[in-house]
Amino acid sequence: MNQVALITGASRGIGRGIALELAAVGWDLVVNYAGNQAAAEDTAKRCVEQAKEDGHTIRAEICQCDVGQAVDRDRLIVFTREQFGRLDLLVNNAGITSIGRADILDASEENWDALMAINLKGPFFLSQLAGRWMVEQNEADPSRRGKIVNVSSISAHTVSTNRGDYCVAKAGLGMVTKLFAARLADVGVNVYEVCPGVIASDMTAPVQAKYDKLIDEGLTPIRRWGEPGDVGRAVVALAQDYFPFTTGEVLNVDGGFTIRRI
Ligand code: NAP
Repeated sequence: MNQVALITGASRGIGRGIALELAAVGWDLVVNYAGNQAAAEDTAKRCVEQAKEDGHTIRAEICQCDVGQAVDRDRLIVFTREQFGRLDLLVNNAGITSIGRADILDASEENWDALMAINLKGPFFLSQLAGRWMVEQNEADPSRRGKIVNVSSISAHTVSTNRGDYCVAKAGLGMVTKLFAARLADVGVNVYEVCPGVIASDMTAPVQAKYDKLIDEGLTPIRRWGEPGDVGRAVVALAQDYFPFTTGEVLNVDGGFTIRRI
């Protein structure tokens, strides 16, 4: 029986990249999306094809859910139970950028609340639901070791004064990782944080020219844009249990951005 991963925001960008890489190593998938059903269907189809190419038979099912809404999160977990009856990996990937990218002296509470619901509250309460289920699974069979991976960002530790809410949410996600890592270690559930750098996706498309220039000028020692698959492969490494004695840890997928240089 295949292991099952639930990936939020898997219709496009990094989430799709994670889905494709997990499919390639034979995971069944729940592909969550917010509104773009056609993109989610395309991800699911591509995942099944990718798995086949790599010698696996998998299922990939799509499920609409706004991770910022409690009733939707409940429905997503119920859907996963009904479709697959098990959960081995939750990837909290869904996220939005700062609405309007306003300077912190002008930023609005309304936009702050909207972003926090999706980028911080959603992952916390989805981890709670997944965590309860993983406790249940471990009690039924102590060899079952679920995992949670939170997709954070270099913005967790790097300021952008026109995206304050985004930075605060990602910094908060670091504490979510540590909290659930500490709480769930006794039931064999490891929790990790992946911090992507500049990754080519719809989110970064509007600022492509800015980052083209910065990368060209040496923003990162590895002088290229990251691809969704770069993040996907990092998640696969964590998901496949190569780090059994590591939890609450951060994996930077940022081309070396965090190295201080003179
Ligand atoms: P993206 O291309 O804009 O894709 C966003 C994905 O999230 C889509 O699948 C979208 O679904 C989904 N989504 C948005 N709001 C949602 C909600 N309320 N509920 C459920 N799903 C929702 O973004 P991305 O660049 O792949 O970013 C993915 C994650 O990586 C985010 O957490 C982001 O903060 C983080 N990240 C990105 C970068 C980067 O350079 N791109 C760097 C660091 C971290 P629909 O298709 O239905 O709209």
